[in-house]
This record gives sequence, structure tokens and C-alpha cells, in this order.
Amino acid sequence: MIKRAIVRFTGAVQGVGFRPFVYKLANRYGLKGFVLNDGKGVVIEVEGEEEVIKDFILSIHKEKPTLANIFSQSVEIFENLKNYKEFKILESVNTMEKEVFILPDISTCDDCLKELFNPKDRRYLYPFTNCTNCGPRFSITEKLPYDRKNTTMKSFHMCKDCLEEYNDPSNRRFHAQPNACPVCGPNIFLHTKDRKLIAKSIKAIEFLKDFILNGDIVAVKGIGGFHLVCDATNDKAVNLLRERKKRFEKPFAVMFKDIDQIKNYTLVSYVEEITILSSEKPIVIVKKKENTDLSELIAPDLDKIGVFLPYSPLHHILFKFVNKPLVMTSANVSEEPIVKDNDEAFEKLSYFTDYILTHNRDIKNRVDDSVVFCVKDKTFFIRRSRGYAPLPVKLPFKLKSKVLAVGGHQKVTIALGIDDKAYISQHIGDLETLASQETFEETIYTFFNIYNFYPDIIVSDLHPNYYSTKWAKNFSMKNGVKHIQVQHHYAHGLSLMADNHIKEEKILTVCWDGTGYGLDGNLWGGEFLIVDYENFERVFHFDYFKLIGGEKAVKEPRRVALSILFKILGKDSLNLNLPTLNEFSENEISSLYTIWEKNINTPLSSSVGRLFDAVSSLLGIKQVLSYEGQSGMIMEGLYDYTVKDFYSFDLKNGKIVYDSLFIDLIQDKSDTRIKVSRFINTLVKIILDVSKNFELKVGFSGGVFQNKVLLTLLMNNDKNKSFLYHRSVPPNDGGIALGQVVFNQF
Ligand code: ZN
Ligand code: ZN
Ligand code: FE
Repeated sequence: MIKRAIVRFTGAVQGVGFRPFVYKLANRYGLKGFVLNDGKGVVIEVEGEEEVIKDFILSIHKEKPTLANIFSQSVEIFENLKNYKEFKILESVNTMEKEVFILPDISTCDDCLKELFNPKDRRYLYPFTNCTNCGPRFSITEKLPYDRKNTTMKSFHMCKDCLEEYNDPSNRRFHAQPNACPVCGPNIFLHTKDRKLIAKSIKAIEFLKDFILNGDIVAVKGIGGFHLVCDATNDKAVNLLRERKKRFEKPFAVMFKDIDQIKNYTLVSYVEEITILSSEKPIVIVKKKENTDLSELIAPDLDKIGVFLPYSPLHHILFKFVNKPLVMTSANVSEEPIVKDNDEAFEKLSYFTDYILTHNRDIKNRVDDSVVFCVKDKTFFIRRSRGYAPLPVKLPFKLKSKVLAVGGHQKVTIALGIDDKAYISQHIGDLETLASQETFEETIYTFFNIYNFYPDIIVSDLHPNYYSTKWAKNFSMKNGVKHIQVQHHYAHGLSLMADNHIKEEKILTVCWDGTGYGLDGNLWGGEFLIVDYENFERVFHFDYFKLIGGEKAVKEPRRVALSILFKILGKDSLNLNLPTLNEFSENEISSLYTIWEKNINTPLSSSVGRLFDAVSSLLGIKQVLSYEGQSGMIMEGLYDYTVKDFYSFDLKNGKIVYDSLFIDLIQDKSDTRIKVSRFINTLVKIILDVSKNFELKVGFSGGVFQNKVLLTLLMNNDKNKSFLYHRSVPPNDGGIALGQVVFNQF
């Protein structure tokens, strides 16, 4: 029977070569009709034998373009025919509703790479080569629909050849919005830091190569912003970069020519290899090999390193000239967002670099590189940004209202909740500086504009002094939009629920992180919460300790260790011979004791992140941090999987009491590795023991669960495979916005 069918697809189906694919497929099956993009996705109307239509739809799913991500499909069958004569690709129809996704920026595909390095191709060594399967998307998009005129490519007019490709349904570049070539597209320019032009086009890369091999630091404009680049095997160059950036220990990411080069320097598992090679090309944290020529200054004291592969044509060309691993770190002034504009680069980066490689394709949206790590078969986000944002996360239910969630204070992302999706922004960063606060606001309005969105509700953290909370309050007052505040660790728990598609049930979430503002005004961070979408109950938490000097203690593990010594042993602790005590003079210790005793700026905390710090100080590993999470990262590298025992602790009235833990630790005469291992084992034992009290699913959220050892041990102990981990958002505060979106919305 000949029938007519209308098939609709929603999801990431525009700008991925979906229509030309459908066109070819329909012709293969001999079906007549049309395909078009509308505001919701792709609509296909076909006429033909019912059986053939069925096979055609199945083939769409089986053979769809790699980047297409189908969220939903609907099929309607009609008896009446329109007698189409051929299959056509029709003009886009704009509807008022905007449910189409903006795609993230995708790394150069293999077909484009072949052209890039084929001397006979018209795009030979052209740094802006792209097609419907690859290239910039979100970073150049100003608004929807995703058409060239709404991107920063609007100022370039396609030449005859490019236009032909663009209009040919059988071409890989059919409706590839950023399509360009050396004749009509953008170009690269190498300048000195005081704006003198040195060279352009491929000549610029030749100069750049010499500068890099000479040990210089250069700035290179990429997809979502500028990178600072230097030779990763040159200690002097890396050291110079550290001194100029005043970033003394925080690890730098390294870009390698190809996966073989990565394997020469690191030990990668199968899952890590797949992730490194994926079209998103995130930075993947992997184990370093010993004794390579990679500079030790790249990740001091750590046994791991962040690696990634070239993802833009410019990177690939650069590696054709420089066959060495390159430090590629986001170019920014400390704590500020990544630099994206050319003028901004000359203004802000001239202190760090002597040479700046710019191009004239503007970046609309700043997007940092994403960072992930793998544990067994799972991949965890540390930062969900380029390659992933702004694709939405699908929620387990439809939201009652339109929600704007503004995140917390560190690693901030914002999210829009619309129907059954959370559109989570790229990584914005810590809202410490004016520049990052501006980017925060800019991102919110960009998302409003892109998705034609206005919130019914705005959700922020509970902390009264977070910039995001104040912004939400202000927005709410000015615009009469309801403002709700959600406690930080509860938001972690909610985000874990949504991330695992939990609906009705309550779960026990272990929320361990740096610190977050608690209901009692103390700084929580070692919490066991029973969570559902309406409410939470704090059933267990680490016994409070004082942070001597507040913020100062967050940066100085020795202060946390001292405070715990005072708490457990009182003044007696001062006679011990411990690395922590050697850090202070006798006078300092007695005045800190007074401060501790009299509660002068000593907020209470239950943070497990801080307990890691305390242990690292007591063991002489790290006394003052040069970046967040440093002590935990070093301790991970010291863990010994053959150690199975742990220290003692008590569970009393909802409190985890760790006095005996620290006494055991101080008295333990084993070497540091064993003590670190016993400490981490104790944390796992605490989780297992507390969980036994509840017949609930158990899940993990908070920055502490970026610890690979901790996650590995939990997975080893999870016989029934019932533990819940984050999947689509980071366990750290980058996932807070997702939790805020779903509060009270089920
Ligand atoms: Zn391509
Ligand atoms: Zn052209
Ligand atoms: Fe947190």
C-alpha cells in the first residue's frame, strides 16, 4: 500500500548534514517528498510503500551523520497522497518556538584533514577548513536560527566555488554555515605584542614554529579563545610561562600531534584513548610515563597530566611544522575568563607573550577546553565546555516552570530549564573578578537571546555573599521574577538525581567538597543527605572543626591541621614532632591557639576537602596550596592499592567523629604512601558504614569525587553496581546549576 508519512526528529539535527543525508537516503529508497528544518528540528514528508518507509526510517537511525543526536521521533501515517514527483530539500521554516539546539564546536573531521594536507586541494593548509560534519558552531553563533547571517562569518562572502558547495545537496558542505576557503574566508596574522605585523597565512606559521622552538611563549587564537603556547619539552620556556603567569604549580595541559605521540609520554587505558580521540577532543587527565623529555614543570608533584589532540585546522597545521608536545593553556589574566577578542589579546596578553597569532573570524562566545578523566569504563567531567556546551542535558521529567539557575561561586555554569531539558552553559569560572562577573551576566543574556527565553523562576545558592546570589536577588527585584535559594550540597544531590534520571525515590547522596554555606550558617562539605526533589535531610556529617582565619585556612592546609590538633589534643599536641608544627614559630602557634580558643574569625566547617588538606599537612606533603584541590591530587598519586587497612572512627548521633582517625595517623610509623592509603581507605569505610544505616540507593557528588582513587575504590566495593555517579555534568560546582534547575519541579 502506498502511504504518506510525516516524520519529525528533534535533537541535534541541524547543522550536522542531516538533510543531505536524508536526501540521499530517500533517493536510495525511491521515496518522494521533502525534508526541511523548522524551529523544532527536522521534518520529513515521504510517499511510498509502507514497508519501504519503515526501512527508510530505520536506516535514518542506523546511518545518521556522526554528529546528529536524535532526542525524539514522531511518525504520522496518512492515506491521502500528495503525489510528489521527486524528493527535495526545502527552505527552512521558522516557527516561533525555538527548540533547536545550537551545536557545540566540533573538531576537524577526517575528510577535511585529507583536504588540508593535500597539496592539490584548494584548501591546502587553509586554517579555516570545515564542513557540515565539523568546525566552529556555538563559538561563532550570535542567535538562532543557525544561519551564516547569524554567525560571525556574516562579514565574509562566499566565492563562486564555496557557494557551489554550499548549494549542492550532495556536497559535504551543503549549508555548512562557516564554509570558507583561502579566496573568500578568514586568514591568520602573526604580530609582535605591540601590533607590528610579522607575517600572514602559512608564512605566519613558519615564523611561529621558529619562535616556539626558540623557547618563546606565543599566544594563538583558537576556537573559543586564545591559548598561550610553548614547547612542553623546554624547561626554560615552561618556567618562563610560570613566572610570567605567576602560576607556579597548577598543571598545564599539553597538546600532542597524535595519539601515538601521547602514548610515548603517557599510559592510556582503552577508555581514555577513545575519549582522547572523540570528536569533542577534551583534555583528558592520564598517567604520565616516567623519564620522558617532557618538562617536569608542567605538572609538579603529580603523576598525571592533561593531554589533548589538535581540534582545529590551525592546530593540525602547527603540528605539521612543530613535531613536539606543546603546552596549550587558556590565555587569561589570573582568575579572569579566557581572552577571545583580538584587541583584548593585545591589551591583556602582552605581558605573557612576545608574539600573538590572531585571525579575523570573531569569537562570539568564549569557550574553554573541556576537561575529563576516566575511571574504569566511566568518564567524568571536571569541566564541561568546548565540544559539549551548549547541548542540553535531558531531564527525567518535564519542569513545571521556566527556570534560570545561576550556579554557585566557583567553576560557575548557568542553566536554563525548559520543558524536559537543562541547557547548561559553558564553563564561566570563579566569580572573583569583575571580568568574570561580566562574562557571567553576558552568558545569561546570550542564553536568553539564543533560546528566546525569559524565566518564571530564578534559582541561586543559599550563600548570601556569592555574586551569583546577589545578581539573582537584584534581577528578581527589578523584574518581579520569583527568586529561590537552594542549599549548596542539596543542589549537588539534586544534580546527581537528575543526572541519573531518578524520579520518585529518595536517595542517599554523599556530598563532599571544599565548602558550601549550610542551613546553620556553617561551612558544610562532609555531608550525607537524603534527597528528593522537594526536600532533604542531613543525616550524617563530619564533626565540625574551626577554620583558623577563615579563607586563609582554605589556602593553608597547615592551619586546618593545627586546628584539628587543638581540637583533639588541646595544648598537649604542641609537644609532638610533626611537619605541621615545624611550619610555625612558637609565638605563632600560641597566638593561633588563642585565636582558635576565643573563636576570632574561626568559622566552623565539616568539609572533607579540608580534611584532605589537614592530612597532607600532618604528613608533610603540602603546607600551603598554590591551587585548589592540590593536596588531594598529590595524595592520589601516592596511593598504594595493596594497602587494605584503615584508621578508626566513630559514628555518633549523625556525626562522623574522627579523633581516633587522627590519633592513629599521628602514631602511625609507616611511610607516607601507606598512611595516605589508610586515610583514603578510611573515607571509603565511612561511606560504606554510614550507607548501611539506610535502605536507599547511594550516590556521590561534590569536588572530592574527582578523586580517581576514591572513585576506583567505591566501584570496587559496589558489588551490585548500584552506586550512582555523575554522568553528564561535573561532580564539582560546575554541576550545581543542574541541581538548581530541578528543585521543586517534579
Ligand atoms: Zn569536516
Ligand atoms: Zn571560497
Ligand atoms: Fe560544592
